[in-house]
Amino acid sequence: MFSKRTRPSTPKESSHFLPHLVEFQQGYGGVVSEKIAAQHVQLQQEREISRASRQCVICPVLLLYGRCRTLTCQYRHLLCEVDKSVSSAVPKQGRIQFEVLKICTPTHFASRLLTLKKDESADWLKLPHKDQYENVQKLLKDYYSQPENIRKLREPCRQDKCAYKCSDGRFERVSITFLPSNSRDSDIRVKNLDSNTAIYHVKLHELVQLPEDLKGFPPLALDIRLVGCIPFNGEETWQSPDLQPVGEFLKEGDICEASICFSLSHTIFVEQLEVEQGSYRELLERNRLSRYDNEIGNCLRIMCNK
Ligand SMILES: [Zn+2]
Repeated sequence: MFSKRTRPSTPKESSHFLPHLVEFQQGYGGVVSEKIAAQHVQLQQEREISRASRQCVICPVLLLYGRCRTLTCQYRHLLCEVDKSVSSAVPKQGRIQFEVLKICTPTHFASRLLTLKKDESADWLKLPHKDQYENVQKLLKDYYSQPENIRKLREPCRQDKCAYKCSDGRFERVSITFLPSNSRDSDIRVKNLDSNTAIYHVKLHELVQLPEDLKGFPPLALDIRLVGCIPFNGEETWQSPDLQPVGEFLKEGDICEASICFSLSHTIFVEQLEVEQGSYRELLERNRLSRYDNEIGNCLRIMCNK
């Protein structure tokens, strides 16, 4: 019998401690043995595949820098087909004008696309998202005004589009992004499709079936992320106090303009963002909120194409 102190660790314990061990050794300039390094790489790959298959939340550091070096990070770093298959409703190049729906961080905004200029010589083209949003809101209101149409979701699946009744009585189209094995009692994670891109937890009984014709509309809110601007104070990610000074030159409801760098299914990465007072990047820098890192664009491009 092994005593408690000397028993070998179980595979589960080893897989928990291995990233901590490698991170610790690297952090202190130690040499990680080839065997440990190989085991660690394999473990990380298995974990990322598992996180991708469960559609875990993408790492915020990865979305800001195009890479995450924290070996013990619990977020997902592998993009999958669902993230990368960009529908025709999401432009991949050109200049866009959009309405800011929610300022999530100084460089991440839930937005609604308004117009697109495919290239310098092209005219501005009106995009359908705003009209579709108003149409969808009306259709939802009419449909659920009939009590017989409010039907519980029976067998939820990940990626299902359904509806959530908000506290103001309005119905919001949502997509299921995480489903626990026992979805009857546990929290289900959903993402708003139209009014913003918020992700939150609900109970199964709070979700109702969405008619097929309303599922057909693409998401009418998208994430827009400004490339290359990172926290000035050296923090790895944005902190909530960073939002307050941004309010001096950007507010929800503002119309902005930017150039598309590249797109994922629900996210457009942009540069040259113009707000009413001028260049947004210059405003961030002048207010000592962010600094620009030229390398990040490439890292993000590689991340999107991997
Ligand atoms: Zn990470």
